[in-house]
Amino acid sequence: MSLTVDRVILRLVRIPMREPFRISNGVVAEKESIVIELHAGETIGFGEASPMSGTFYSSETPATTWDTLERDLVPDIFSRSIANPVEYAELLNGYGREPFARAGIEGAVWHLFANRLGTTIRELVGAPAARVPSGLAVGIYDSLDELLEHIALYLKEGYQRVKVKIMPGWDIGPLTAVRDRFGDIPLMVDANASYNLADHADLLRSLDQFNLMMIEQPLAADALEELAELSRTVKTPVCVDESADSMESLEKIIRLNAASIVNIKVQRVGGLWNAKRMQDRACETGLAGWLGTMPELGIASAQALQLAGLTGFIYPTDIEASSRWFVDDIIDPTITISDGGVIEVPNAGAIGYNVYLPALEQYTVQTKEFHRP
Ligand SMILES: [Mg+2]
Repeated sequence: MSLTVDRVILRLVRIPMREPFRISNGVVAEKESIVIELHAGETIGFGEASPMSGTFYSSETPATTWDTLERDLVPDIFSRSIANPVEYAELLNGYGREPFARAGIEGAVWHLFANRLGTTIRELVGAPAARVPSGLAVGIYDSLDELLEHIALYLKEGYQRVKVKIMPGWDIGPLTAVRDRFGDIPLMVDANASYNLADHADLLRSLDQFNLMMIEQPLAADALEELAELSRTVKTPVCVDESADSMESLEKIIRLNAASIVNIKVQRVGGLWNAKRMQDRACETGLAGWLGTMPELGIASAQALQLAGLTGFIYPTDIEASSRWFVDDIIDPTITISDGGVIEVPNAGAIGYNVYLPALEQYTVQTKEFHRP
């Protein structure tokens, strides 16, 4: 079976966030995503490209992602007959740049094939579990009280661990306060590359006192040799996120022994297939893994959940309830957390959730439709 895409609709979607998400290098208050709708005859597939707004997380933005889709990837997909999603994913890797645009259109192709075959993406990628442990992530706040109140509010929903964003000047204080208030909860930190070894080696080593699950991305994305040095001298496991943006960078991390854990994000690595390949490779070499998020809206989150049951993902995912970050979502049902801090992926359709067209229309701020020439 092969599929030929004959119609594509791009939508820029904007949904207000329930609270601004602040990390070490910037803040976002609205979630922007580009939803990609592919038609092959009667069969439809949806994908979501979900870069963070602004350029503080990565050089890719909603604007560059839209341009890449409109100018390059949509015309390209009209020129092809696609035999299977893996073949298409490998072709996309030849494009190289713009991982978020690639992840969005690749997700739509997986969705299209799963719909046509009457199966799930989970079956197609061979991920066994449909119950995915979930962790809470909290940003940086103006005060310790605000931080503690937000953790208390969301912990009631049952999340299996708490991830606190840190940066120079916002580290020992918040962690001391969190341990004082919440005791021995499973706790980790994410620095989003905000420290350097020359200035902060002692401080980073002193984080051992908090008995953390891991320190995520303490140093710059390309500072892998320094990261290896840090890994050798701290007891807390070191996790890479921004550093692990491709199979090539993962190989370098493995070669240098730079980290013992990898956070794999479908969007950042350019799609589900790359994420699965990187996860397989991490497993082979004894690197522990988990599935992170940007965070994304429901379509990309639901598709990532299809992958999150791979056996190598041993730590809780960053995929949270839809209502954690967004005032609304574009899927039905929305994602919720069950007792025990688990996301029970519904066993319905290609991705477990339906794309909810009324919400998609409501939050769309820009649309463009394309037809096969
Ligand atoms: Mg991170």
